[in-house]
Amino acid sequence: IIIYSLYILMLYLVYTGGVASTGPLWIFIVPPVSLYVHGLKKGLLNIAIFVSLTCLIMFFPYSVYAQDIYPFEFKLRLLYSFLTISFLSALYEFSRNELYNNALELNQKLHKLAHFDELTGLHNRRDSQLKLNQNIAVFNPEQRFSILLCDIDYFKLVNDKYGHGAGDLVLIKISEVFQRTKNQTDYVSRWGGEEFLFILPQTDQIEAFEVAERLRSAVFEQSVSLDDEDIKVTISIGVKEYHMGLSVDQLINDADKALYEAKKLGRNRSISAA
Ligand code: GH3
Ligand code: MG
Ligand code: MG
Repeated sequence: IIIYSLYILMLYLVYTGGVASTGPLWIFIVPPVSLYVHGLKKGLLNIAIFVSLTCLIMFFPYSVYAQDIYPFEFKLRLLYSFLTISFLSALYEFSRNELYNNALELNQKLHKLAHFDELTGLHNRRDSQLKLNQNIAVFNPEQRFSILLCDIDYFKLVNDKYGHGAGDLVLIKISEVFQRTKNQTDYVSRWGGEEFLFILPQTDQIEAFEVAERLRSAVFEQSVSLDDEDIKVTISIGVKEYHMGLSVDQLINDADKALYEAKKLGRNRSISAA
C-alpha cells in the first residue's frame, strides 16, 4: 500500500508540478525504493510502468497542463537521468542479490560442515554432543531415552587387508544399514573413526537392547562388494539408558564400558550397561 501510494504521489507531483514546478525532482526515489521493496524483477517492471506513465503525463499532447509547465529539454533530461539512476539502482540490487545468495550458500555449507560427517553423511560428534545435552536438559521420566555405542570389530584388519579406500566404503555401507534399520525417530551419528552413537527416544534399556540386536544382525547380514570379494564385518554395541543426574560424560562412559565388555566377550554382540 505504501509503495503504490508513493507511485501515485510521484505521478501527482509530475502532473501538477508541485511547488514552483520542482515536483518531478522527487521521482528519483522511485528506482531504489521499488527495487528494495519488490526485488530485481518486479521492481524493474514497476519502474518501467512508472516511467511509461510519467512520459504519458509529460509528453502526450493535449493531455494535461504538464505539457506546458516544463520545458521540453527539462523533460528529456529528467527522463535520461531517471533511466540512468534506474540502471545504477538495478545494478546495485543485482550485486546485492548475488552477495546475499553467496552468503546463504556459504552459510549452508558451514552448517553442513559443523553438523554432519563428510564421509558417511551422518551427524557428527559435535552435533551428537549438542543433541545429548538437549535431551538431558529436558529430561523427565516420561521423556526417557537410551544410547547405543557401536564399534566395528577388527576394522583395522579391513584397512590392512583391503586398503583405506575399502575401509571408507565399509563405513559408508554400514551407515546406510544403520539409516534404513533404525526407527525414524532414532538419531545416529558418527561418534569417531569406526564408532557410531545412537540416541533412542522413548526407549528403556530393555527396548534399547532389542534395537541394538536388530542393528547388529542387519550389519552381520550385509556384505560389502569390492571387486571380486565380499567384505563382511560385525559390530559390538554397548547399551545404556539415561538416568536422572547422569552427565553426558558419565552416560558415554557407561556405554563405553559395556562396549568394552562386548569386545572382551568375543565381539559381534550387544551388552547392556549395569
Ligand atoms: P576392535 O575390534 O577392538 O574395535 O578392533 P579395531 O581394529 O576395529 O580397532 P582399532 O581401534 O585398533 O582400529 C580402528 C581403526 O579404524 C584404525 C583406523 O585406521 C581405522 N579408521 C578410523 N577412521 C577411519 C576412516 O575414516 N577410514 C578408514 N578407512 N579407517 C578408519
Ligand atoms: Mg574403535
Ligand atoms: Mg573397532
